[in-house]
Amino acid sequence: MAVTGPDVYDGIPKVELHCHVEGTVRPSTVVELARRAGHPLPVDDPRQLYRYDSLDSFLAIFWLVQETLLTRDDWARIAYESLVDGAAHGLRYREMFFTPARHLAAGQDLGEIVAGLTDGIEAAETEVPVRCALVADIDKAYGPAAGLELVDRIGDLLRGGRARRVIGVGADSTELGVDLAAFAPAFAAAGRLGLRRTCHAGEAVGAGPENIRIAIDVLGVERIDHGIAIVEDPALLRRVASEGIPLTVCPTSNVVIANRYASLAEHPLPAMRDAGLLVTINTDDPAMMGLDLGAEYRAVADGCGFTAASLAELAIDGIRSTWLDASEQAALRADFEGVVAGLPVPEA
Ligand SMILES: [Zn+2]
Repeated sequence: MAVTGPDVYDGIPKVELHCHVEGTVRPSTVVELARRAGHPLPVDDPRQLYRYDSLDSFLAIFWLVQETLLTRDDWARIAYESLVDGAAHGLRYREMFFTPARHLAAGQDLGEIVAGLTDGIEAAETEVPVRCALVADIDKAYGPAAGLELVDRIGDLLRGGRARRVIGVGADSTELGVDLAAFAPAFAAAGRLGLRRTCHAGEAVGAGPENIRIAIDVLGVERIDHGIAIVEDPALLRRVASEGIPLTVCPTSNVVIANRYASLAEHPLPAMRDAGLLVTINTDDPAMMGLDLGAEYRAVADGCGFTAASLAELAIDGIRSTWLDASEQAALRADFEGVVAGLPVPEA
């Protein structure tokens, strides 16, 4: 297989395991929903707001966008548009984060949020070749008690048959000044419910690899979101590689949102892959960076020196990082391999 050309990165079939639905809202939808929510944005084009100098400065804008989501239909709309937009750039399967802490604090009903997201996912799945499960993210800024409460309420929905798309929990938001180990009861409760577990760790400037170790050893996670600080701890890196614990890496986000690197040329993704880590490439919050999944692959090719063929291999490898069962993984792999084999061969 040899692949190249302007559209090959869209053409590579992909899983995406690190994408926040609230960070995928089309700018035009943000404007419309903000107006309807009664607090129009301070600018006409939300893209003018999308400038960040740290993870925490990003979170302030992220919350501004989240506040526009009020009804079940709003959640359905953003999930639907997110998947349709993703499918146009090769997305075939996503385990998608939603972070309801702020909405629950404002009085929204978790069952309605999950129902809305499910409506949107199911509508998209009938229109485009994509499938999607949900991962409920704990917002670390709201503290461990709110995290446990969220997991308990997900449990209520599961028992009532109202959360069939929710397959896991994670934890996101701010990393500095947060005692990650304090979230152990929430993660233990998630485990008892049979939910899969992942966690953002080792992302923010100033965050070393300690949170990665805590996430694995104290929270019992099966996957690490970001985890780029792992390159600072060779022993931990060797362990995570040998245990096959996946890392969901978001290269452009680490430059644009976390400001951890000045450019993709500094990003450790190539070193992580060379060291045998199981990594996937993800967009994190694509609409808030003018990004899409095909563009992310193209940016990694240009900025980190990967060939399109090696990125297609990485995309197929990423299926192992999903929480699909073995037969579903095998079916998806056969599908991906067929698509990749048919990608355009360059003339020259
Ligand atoms: Zn994230």
